[in-house]
Amino acid sequence: MSQPLACLRPEIIALQTYQVPDARGLIKLDAMENPYTLPDALADEVMADVARLGLNRYPDPALYQALVVRLREVMSVPDAAGMVLGNGSDEIIQMLALAVAKPGACLLTVGPTFVMFRAIAELCGLRYVEVPLTDEFALDMPAMLDALAEHQPALTFLAYPNNPTGNLFATADIMTLVDRASGYVIVDEAYSVFAEHSFMPLAASRDNLVVMRTLSKVGLAGLRLGYLAGPQALTATLDKVRMPYNVNVLTLAVAERLLQHYNVFLGQAEAIKSERTRVMQVLSTLSQVKAFPSSANFILFQVPDAERTFAGLKAAGLLIKAVPKSLARGLRVTIGSPVENNAFLTALRKNL
Ligand SMILES: *Cc1c(COP(=O)(O)O)cnc(C)c1O
Repeated sequence: MSQPLACLRPEIIALQTYQVPDARGLIKLDAMENPYTLPDALADEVMADVARLGLNRYPDPALYQALVVRLREVMSVPDAAGMVLGNGSDEIIQMLALAVAKPGACLLTVGPTFVMFRAIAELCGLRYVEVPLTDEFALDMPAMLDALAEHQPALTFLAYPNNPTGNLFATADIMTLVDRASGYVIVDEAYSVFAEHSFMPLAASRDNLVVMRTLSKVGLAGLRLGYLAGPQALTATLDKVRMPYNVNVLTLAVAERLLQHYNVFLGQAEAIKSERTRVMQVLSTLSQVKAFPSSANFILFQVPDAERTFAGLKAAGLLIKAVPKSLARGLRVTIGSPVENNAFLTALRKNL
């Protein structure tokens, strides 16, 4: 008698499928996307590039290498750092997890944080350990140091700024963890374009410090391109985990072209940051709202009844994100265009 289901790993059967809420007809402020599309002239250039591609051929490794060179220059990656590109930074997290997945290996992070750290740890069979942040969303250093000593994590992930709380952890705290960790410390800078500080200049300075970024929050979430900069002994090994053609020709060609015009995206990020300041100011005038300062393109806020406000906003045509986790229990709104942000603020006032 055949029993194919018995072949599947029970811990994978137990996982939840990643849910993407249906946003049709709604103003989409739930997923930290950039609200702006490409200027027409740039979109035309991209179309011309794409039309010239040979989709019949596998991606030429020279295009991958050229994109690495381009990223080094545009993102000021230290020369001594090695680099790896992924199909989004999600894929890079998975490469790291696969590379360390010995029996009993551990992935350490904070709580609350980016949900993919847990999902990928479970998928790859790593022990997942989450140390709660303090009430101010800072690293709980005594607890983190205890966790390093007790669990000897192969990977420690720190989202910087953290999602969903939006804050940057103290630089000195992160460096202490880098000094004390026996495994790799990965600073996940998905929101670096909106933040005041970056660890990129240190990407080659320690044998266990790794900086990971993505173009997703910059305005290219659909492109799926993440990158990692870190010690070459690590990146050389990740290149063996990486599937040969993990970054497809469309992504390679479009990213190459758009990074030649990176100032367009920096301009959009400036617009989003000034909207962040404005939205924050308005939220601070609402007595029933407690909004937390953000170094990212979203704001976490608390209201008297998060479920009611979430549902009211949805009925008004706005999709935001409910953050169920106890510590940061509340709502997370992505900063959109001025029109979208005004629609959000109007609907919020009516649904407190
Ligand atoms: C959104 C996000 C990512 C994004 O990953 P991609 O796969 O590159 O889109 C990574 N890390 C954090 C903390 C995020 O919030």
